[in-house]
Amino acid sequence: MYIDIHSHNSKPAKGIFTVENLMAHEASVPALCEGMAFSVGIHPWFAEQSNYGAQLDFVKHYGGHSAVTAIGEAGFDTLKGAPAALQLKTFEEQVRISENLQKPLIIHCAGAWEELLSSFRRLKPAMPWLIHGFRGKKALAQQLVSKGMYLSLWHGYVLTPLFPELLRTIPACRLFLETDGSGADIRIIYEKTAAALGLTTQELKEQIAANCGKVFLNTIHVFAK
Ligand SMILES: [Zn+2]
Repeated sequence: MYIDIHSHNSKPAKGIFTVENLMAHEASVPALCEGMAFSVGIHPWFAEQSNYGAQLDFVKHYGGHSAVTAIGEAGFDTLKGAPAALQLKTFEEQVRISENLQKPLIIHCAGAWEELLSSFRRLKPAMPWLIHGFRGKKALAQQLVSKGMYLSLWHGYVLTPLFPELLRTIPACRLFLETDGSGADIRIIYEKTAAALGLTTQELKEQIAANCGKVFLNTIHVFAK
């Protein structure tokens, strides 16, 4: 089974397990569906002061749905979206929901690593934090891994020359892959990642399935190898 840990507008596909991300400002809600699970959260681009209570209620309500395997994407973006103070408040509220529901947190972070790390130090989360769309440098990857975080790599990374070097700094047990709804093919992303790691695609599938078993302990029932 290929596992696409973060996608948007995906459809069930044979041999692929997808975690579809639902954002509170959208109208879609989770539903039980073979080959799919969901994350629900407030994206920092779309947090709204006027709608804050309703967006949080959406996450609290649907976060408890049995098809929902994670809270998020939640996080920080210095380039786009809500004012920094609202992003911070919205993020930390979602950390609390993730802790209360005992579901991991999927994180969007652009340019605000200090803010993220300071929330991490302050809140001391027991649930795993998974950074999605990671496209940072080696030192940052090492720093996040040293805090126990998981990294799902930006889909475009597999095509860059820096990719194999970055991969060597991330322990395989902390690695995830995703399409982020880009239209990229998760099978090709696996193939290129396996080659860069010197693994077969099957070995990589087993590794990522094992990682899923660890991170999504109570919430994803089926991760076939
Ligand atoms: Zn996304």
